[in-house]
Amino acid sequence: MRKYNIGLLRGDGIGPEIVDSAVRVLQAVGEKYDIQFTFTPYLIGGAAIDACGKPLPEETVKGCLGSDSVLLGAVGGPKWDTLPGNLRPEKALLGIREAMGLFTNLRPAKLYPALKDECPLRADIVANGFDIMIVRELTGGIYFGQRGYRQGKYGEEAFDTESYSRMEIERIARVAFESARKRRKKVISIDKANVLETSRLWRKTVHEIAEEYPDVEVSDMLVDNAAMQLVRNPSQFDVVVTSNMFGDILSDEASQITGSIGMLPSASLGDTSRGLYEPIHGSAPDIAGQNKANPIATILSAAMMLLYSFNETQAAESIVAAVDTVLNEGYRTADLARGGAALSTTEMTDKIIQRL
Ligand code: NAD
Repeated sequence: MRKYNIGLLRGDGIGPEIVDSAVRVLQAVGEKYDIQFTFTPYLIGGAAIDACGKPLPEETVKGCLGSDSVLLGAVGGPKWDTLPGNLRPEKALLGIREAMGLFTNLRPAKLYPALKDECPLRADIVANGFDIMIVRELTGGIYFGQRGYRQGKYGEEAFDTESYSRMEIERIARVAFESARKRRKKVISIDKANVLETSRLWRKTVHEIAEEYPDVEVSDMLVDNAAMQLVRNPSQFDVVVTSNMFGDILSDEASQITGSIGMLPSASLGDTSRGLYEPIHGSAPDIAGQNKANPIATILSAAMMLLYSFNETQAAESIVAAVDTVLNEGYRTADLARGGAALSTTEMTDKIIQRL
């Protein structure tokens, strides 16, 4: 029997409900594939502020670093919105990513055939569906560069700077090519090489790494064009690799064209197999504690953990297939039901477990 220790960061709002759903699915899939999971909860976000005055206690960091992998719900809520920036629940997210050395963010954006009507794009554009994996660099670029205020030509001005080292580009490019090998073997690298020096180094380095992956097709696209192509013809994309800021913006655009924020998982990875897996949505305080949240994004995040951290391909695929089946059978949580019959969080979880 394979054994894995999973750190649980339930967080705030709907976080505890959706993490508990994913735990039940993991336990069920574990029984089926002879895998034993041990779950250890740690405090994060508003829950941690209430318990010990800070959003990311040291025990949480230590616990996550000692786990085989980590599953996170979501943090934040109106109760903590008036706290100063460094004490806000969201600060814990940057802190835990940094502490775990996570430099890659994987964000799949997939349109499920059963949910085509949720997609805001015209039916003919998404006739073939789409399944995109956005690989975003997470710890470099303009979000981490030098910044400040100074006196300029027109008085006070603010500045932020983008820098990327060859090493940072090489390692994220390798993640993209490896990921493409598990998919349709196509990488599109997105940059702004007609203007930015960092983008020119980005492009050159991605092509150097591409030589190690002759079985994967590589091409470049300017970020402004990519923003258009995502809504004109999303099915042309397989793996997209891009910098921190471009990835931040494009992954939100890609998630919106799937039409369903409650469906999208994500993974943040570093040099080791330990990752941080979480749904892309927030803590949804408006529906917290009502057993209404869609648990699928978190359940699919757990499936990504099985695939990327533990190499448990069969177990991961069985979760994805069960979600597909339940959606094809017409079951919906309230966010997808358009006022029709809706399952609760626990009922949707039960259905998925039954179909494993
Ligand atoms: P949100 O994603 O929490 O909610 C946006 C809307 O989508 C709400 O109407 C909500 O009910 C709905 N929604 C989200 N997830 C859902 C699910 N699983 N099932 C059904 N409906 C769902 O975004 P927001 O309202 O902008 O933020 C709320 C709080 O979450 C804020 O404090 C914000 O800072 C925080 N937040 C946290 C994270 C994170 O922990 N990674 C990410 C984004 C926002």
